[in-house]
Amino acid sequence: MIEILDPTEVDRARATGALVADILATLRSRSVAGTNLLDIDRWARDMMLAAGAQSCYVDYEPSFGRGPFGHYICTSLNDAVLHGLPHDEVLADGDLLSLDLAVSLDGVVADSAISFVVGGAGSAEDEALIAATERALQAGIAAAGPGARLGDVSHAIGSVLGSAGYSVNTEFGGHGVGSTMHQDPHVPNTGRPGRGYVLRPGLLLALEPWVMADTAALTTDADGWTLRSATGCRTAHSEHTVAITEDGVEVLTLPSARA
Ligand code: MG
Ligand code: MG
Repeated sequence: MIEILDPTEVDRARATGALVADILATLRSRSVAGTNLLDIDRWARDMMLAAGAQSCYVDYEPSFGRGPFGHYICTSLNDAVLHGLPHDEVLADGDLLSLDLAVSLDGVVADSAISFVVGGAGSAEDEALIAATERALQAGIAAAGPGARLGDVSHAIGSVLGSAGYSVNTEFGGHGVGSTMHQDPHVPNTGRPGRGYVLRPGLLLALEPWVMADTAALTTDADGWTLRSATGCRTAHSEHTVAITEDGVEVLTLPSARA
């Protein structure tokens, strides 16, 4: 089922989106060499609970994982790209970390992910990988709006990733968002323009390009959740939740003014 939110619900989604973005910004600033992934998980928990929000992850038990997830954030390090289960591991300068966070506040969910290199600038290859996912995300956002089709968004994302030299894995992609985290429609990270569902005002989409440097194949860790590149190469992931509005598209997962 595709959920269409009314204007009051979209307004609540703005608050959820700002909270997710603020938490991610704080976690990014604290993710320095010596930080344990379990510290990041605990900080995420403390910030969301202090704001009165609920985790979308703790009790999450989908068919693709070995649930329940049991943690508050996904921490995917280096060759891990999606659903990284927080565990006892310490960050070092030069690590490439992806943080993916979804919370529910006042009944509405927002979902966002960032990738960055610990300690500042990374290798040219790592920075290119991250930049490609960020450009693909912006292209997907630019292609969205009332009357646009899902295929337009998928095509825009996939075109950027492809022209940057990366192959696209279609097992996981973006999705509808609303009263729960993972809703219809699925938003593949590649597609054909002019095809698929017509976007309508009140629809919330999580757009989330992710890539692996030299492969499209994944392996799953023994933890049943963490997905890694099959070759051990580095990876990146960028995600925003956006709302389709009457006259365009609005990014909801941007930091509030106070952040
Ligand atoms: Mg996410
Ligand atoms: Mg998502």
